[in-house]
Amino acid sequence: MSEQAGTGVLGGDRSGAVGEVTLVGGGPGSDELLTVAGARALERADVVLFDRLAPHGSLTTLAPGALLIDVGKTPGHHPVSQKEIEALIVRHALSGANVVRLKGGDPYVFGRGSEEVLACHAAGVPVTVIPGVTSAIAVPAAAGIPLTHRGMTRLFTVVSGHAPLSDTELEHLAGLGGTIVVLMGIGTLPSITQGLVRFGADARLPVAIIERGFSATQTTTVGTLASIVFDAAAAKVSSPAVLVIGEVVRLAFDGDAEASVLLARAEALADLA
Ligand code: SAH
Repeated sequence: MSEQAGTGVLGGDRSGAVGEVTLVGGGPGSDELLTVAGARALERADVVLFDRLAPHGSLTTLAPGALLIDVGKTPGHHPVSQKEIEALIVRHALSGANVVRLKGGDPYVFGRGSEEVLACHAAGVPVTVIPGVTSAIAVPAAAGIPLTHRGMTRLFTVVSGHAPLSDTELEHLAGLGGTIVVLMGIGTLPSITQGLVRFGADARLPVAIIERGFSATQTTTVGTLASIVFDAAAAKVSSPAVLVIGEVVRLAFDGDAEASVLLARAEALADLA
């Protein structure tokens, strides 16, 4: 954790009144995708606790004068535990500060936002939540992939790949036939793709992995359920990445390359593997 003072002193009401907490969904990484309400909350903040995946490059401008606290988990840094984050939020609010908890994407999509809201309630601290643009939808869109497309699919499911899916979950997902979006799914990619095929999904179903959406190094790797583990290894895919499984991947593009070209490349790679 590192603390970086803006103009120095911690603001807020010093008369003993409790400050308030705003959980802000920062969107998938670009300042442009922060909401107007989120930007306004940052402007008023005395303290900002931010995550690695939240847009934090311009925080000194967006939150002038706020104490900026990095609670992000970066490799090599000792992560701040969820309980410590909750304690920090509550402590600053009880001292009278206006606290913004800036999170990546939407606070309520695998963001532990609800745990932070509950911690505020338990401490008697007023809390509001400003939704954000979730990476589950925006990152595929950045690669040209719509999650629904008339005549192709009318449903999508967003799942966490943080832990392996159970057989029951895999069976239901394979049976649904819609688009499947997996967050935090790089580690469990082999078990998810093989599991879906085991429960009847077509091994030729297209799959896309979009790494570092909205950054200068955004990359899309396309393959099929059968090939994507090889494609991902060949492309040295790493987190953060969003995985999309479904026919809609046929609409993807990467720079000038369209999905058909990406798929042909992926098949050629799989043949070599
Ligand atoms: N609350 C967040 C998700 C938190 S889980 C949201 O709504 O977006 C963290 C996961 O989100 C990452 O492991 C990755 O799967 C995905 N993710 C978030 N930002 C991303 C980005 N810019 N590019 C690719 N994946 C991203």
